[in-house]
Amino acid sequence: MSTTHTKVLIVGSGPAGYTAGVYASRAMLEPMLVQGIEPGGQLTTTTEVENWPGDTEVQGPDLMVRMEAHARAMGCNIVHDIVTDLDLSQRPFTATLDSGQAVTADAIILATGARAKWLGLPTEDKFKGFGVSACATCDGFFYRGQEIVVVGGGNTAVEEALFLTNFASKVTLIHRRDELRAEKILQNRLMKNPKIETLWFHQIEEVYGSENPLGVEGVKVKNVQTGEITDLPCKGVFIAIGHAPATELVKDQLETHNGGYVKVEPGTTHTAIPGVFAAGDLTDHVYRQAVTSAGMGCMAALDAERYLAELGETDVSTELPLGYGAPQDAAE
Ligand code: FAD
Ligand code: NAP
Repeated sequence: MSTTHTKVLIVGSGPAGYTAGVYASRAMLEPMLVQGIEPGGQLTTTTEVENWPGDTEVQGPDLMVRMEAHARAMGCNIVHDIVTDLDLSQRPFTATLDSGQAVTADAIILATGARAKWLGLPTEDKFKGFGVSACATCDGFFYRGQEIVVVGGGNTAVEEALFLTNFASKVTLIHRRDELRAEKILQNRLMKNPKIETLWFHQIEEVYGSENPLGVEGVKVKNVQTGEITDLPCKGVFIAIGHAPATELVKDQLETHNGGYVKVEPGTTHTAIPGVFAAGDLTDHVYRQAVTSAGMGCMAALDAERYLAELGETDVSTELPLGYGAPQDAAE
């Protein structure tokens, strides 16, 4: 196994990771950035982004290609690999990559973002990739002229429902309440769209379909107020019920809160382990936006730069105190 050393290792290639890459490169820290399984992060799964300052409208994947090019142009060493293990117990920290390479780092910026949540139904699992999806931009094209359902009441669900009307003959938005979390501008577009119907106070009980070939034929939905179960034929089921922070690498080493988000010192990106910084959706259960993630990526690079400057000539190869950073979700 080959081992390389970097002053700053950035884990993740969403807006937080790439922005950290730009700032750390400009600080002459020669950072290495590992992209992970989803180069560009969550914005690569959407179409129009209308709230990135400076662009009235930009395609999410295009924006992320530009961010990557920007980080590269500043000198960031961007590696197409996945971090499979992180050892934060002693400095320098050690990351093991999927390719088998090991990377030691004096400072680490965690920017692993968030991943789609699922309903957790066995039948949802059975039809994943065969009619059940969490990405309208990836899979919407397969549902030309078909009836589909979208589950959720946030920005993602409403945007996905709107986007899917480009393909589907009818989209039913299923929500467990009668009030959406989505921004008003999106709600207005939803209500005006003749192809979209809303089904309030309902949740999916079961996805059913054909066995050979495997494919969705419909969903059984339950009225959460009356308990009544009804049948809703459809060919596609898009789950858009939010995202959970991607903490697999660090959940036993760093303190988390608010349902698993990595805890940082308020107003900074410092985690409980000196030299380990966290930015973006991984640590933010409130805002979860591209621009706030990018902002935190900037903060993390500046925090890392200060940390390394303060470390100066001191020996970084020290064992950290045992138990530093409680592994469990802290009680708020
Ligand atoms: P992410 O974008 O989640 O990126 C995480 C990165 O970490 C990925 O590159 C992944 O590959 C990497 N990673 C994970 N694990 C590992 C590992 N083990 N090793 C290496 N790398 C790893 N926000 C807006 O402001 N405007 C919008 O219009 C908007 N639209 C959205 C539409 C959709 C469908 C979704 C899902 C989200 C949308 N958001 C929008 C939210 C926005 O995408 C997120 O807030 C933002 O992408 C978070 O950035 P991030 O850098 O923290 O993480
Ligand atoms: P979200 O805002 O957390 O909304 C999740 C929705 O799913 C809620 O309506 C929730 O219902 C519902 N839900 C959760 N669990 C459920 C379950 N088990 N069964 C049925 N319904 C369930 O998530 P999001 O829409 O993915 O947005 C995440 C973040 O990304 C937000 O900060 C959002 O602003 C951001 N984002 C921004 C844009 C944009 O700016 N255009 C676009 C997409 C996403 P309740 O309402 O009843 O809790």
